[in-house]
Amino acid sequence: MEMSEISKPDLVDVLQQEGIKINRNNFALCPFHGDKSPSLKVFPDSQKFHCFGCGTHGDVIDFIMRYRGISFKESLAYFGMEGKPTPEILERREGAKRKKEFRSFLERWRRKYTNAMIDRLRELERLDATIRGDPTMNGDEPWEGVELTSEIPQLEWKIELLQSGDLSTMIDIYEDFVR
Ligand SMILES: [Zn+2]
Repeated sequence: MEMSEISKPDLVDVLQQEGIKINRNNFALCPFHGDKSPSLKVFPDSQKFHCFGCGTHGDVIDFIMRYRGISFKESLAYFGMEGKPTPEILERREGAKRKKEFRSFLERWRRKYTNAMIDRLRELERLDATIRGDPTMNGDEPWEGVELTSEIPQLEWKIELLQSGDLSTMIDIYEDFVR
């Protein structure tokens, strides 16, 4: 029986679910060779991909077979297109889904936490300006505000890291936050 094209999952969706970032020009880092700059091109219209680095190409089935190291039959089951997925395949699929969910959770947390850090920085900067503008607060007696404003460089550094959006950095900061 000829496999229905309609029942195939969308290539772009699958790549994203598997954690592969596709840039605006439809290029991604190729997972099949040591890719330094995105050389895997995705063609959403024809639902094909081609790597200009290692020459790997094909459709969504070819992709998942190679990416997950599974057979053609297993890949059909993976997408729920045919047969019954094995527990192992279900587990992998759940893993990919959880990874995606964790990423979007992390992204929401990052935005919220960055904003809170920026608010705190603004507050300390205002305090810093007040201290500098008032000689009575800057005298021999160290005022507690001075200690607070010493947090500024650390905050600036943390905000910069948060804004970088790098996944492993985010995980580090998040783990530090929930500890
Ligand atoms: Zn490649």
